[in-house]
Amino acid sequence: MSKQQGKGDLGLVALTKSFATFTAVHPLDLVVPQGSFFALLGPSGCGKTTTLRMIAGLEEPTSGRIRIGDSDITDTKAYQRNVNTVFQSYALFPHMSVLDNVMFGLRRRGDKDAKAKAKEVLELVQLEQVASKKPTQLSGGMQQRVALARALVNRPDVLLLDEPLGALDLKLRRQMQIELKRIQQEVGLTFIHVTHDQEEAMTMADSIAVMNAGRLEQLGDPATLYEQPRSTFVANFLGQSNLLRATVNPGGTDHVVTVRAHDTDLEVSREHLPEGVRDVWLGVRPEKLRLGEGGGPNQLRGIVRDVSFSGVATQYSVQMPWGQELIVVQQNDGTARAVLGETVTVSWAAQHGFALDASQDAEA
Ligand code: ATP
Repeated sequence: MSKQQGKGDLGLVALTKSFATFTAVHPLDLVVPQGSFFALLGPSGCGKTTTLRMIAGLEEPTSGRIRIGDSDITDTKAYQRNVNTVFQSYALFPHMSVLDNVMFGLRRRGDKDAKAKAKEVLELVQLEQVASKKPTQLSGGMQQRVALARALVNRPDVLLLDEPLGALDLKLRRQMQIELKRIQQEVGLTFIHVTHDQEEAMTMADSIAVMNAGRLEQLGDPATLYEQPRSTFVANFLGQSNLLRATVNPGGTDHVVTVRAHDTDLEVSREHLPEGVRDVWLGVRPEKLRLGEGGGPNQLRGIVRDVSFSGVATQYSVQMPWGQELIVVQQNDGTARAVLGETVTVSWAAQHGFALDASQDAEA
């Protein structure tokens, strides 16, 4: 790995953390490219905060190494690492002005340009007009931006964000997601963002590492993870999935393979099928399913059991003859909608499906 590692990339090499007999992080290998917006995503307790704390130097790894570029920082003290963290609790000094909060660290190190640098970064987070205010006079979203400015002002090699938007209401959270992404692109520093919110990770990150029970499940860009998950865990964690139990039929063409699901042959692109597997989950995202025949080979008939309208789209639950309900999401684009109790055909294109090895995941 070290040979391919870029100059300022962050590298985790077989990094582990155990608390007594409990292993919170199993050997973890990751390279976070310099200047990328990287998300560590997973449910509560999966080990993402522990991983972040090891990178920050707040938690000592049980084994493994941490590198930034060519330098090994595993044994470097937290305050000597060029790594800053933004926490959900802003941890600002209440008696100091916004400007003083931001330049505090630089001043202590005797940086003569502290004020100019602080002003520049306050401009970046669009808080220059409140520089003389106290943090308590600001809204939660603004306080979060002060904390961000303070963490950015000395241009760390890596900025760690631990659920930084968790305390904000949904609307503000969405605004801050876009804002954070803009700031990251502008400063060009490496951001590592910990979150359990899949939408947040997908909105902001260039790459996402999905963690589950202390292990890396899958690493990739948001679209690949969403469209080509490699486990039922990732398929279910990153949005809704329809998963059909199926068996791979022998043969097929270079491009397409058929699988048998509940006595029906269905097609899936060969590139979306793991090699050498027999028992699979055939997955299709709800918005990739169509109500209507669509002319292709993948068609199933069922009865509409639920219709829920949400403005932009309508979600249908369609019960198959074997009892399973498929979720279909259709844009409300003026075409006819199905009604409760109606028998409908659900169809999809072979390239929109993905197959997962079911020998690993008996339950979906
Ligand atoms: P959350 O979003 O809830 O913080 P997480 O994915 O960040 O979840 P961690 O905080 O990294 O998860 O915790 C991973 C596991 O390690 C959890 O089961 C947690 O209880 C355990 N753990 C974390 N810190 C300690 C500790 N100091 N002592 C014992 N167990 C710990």
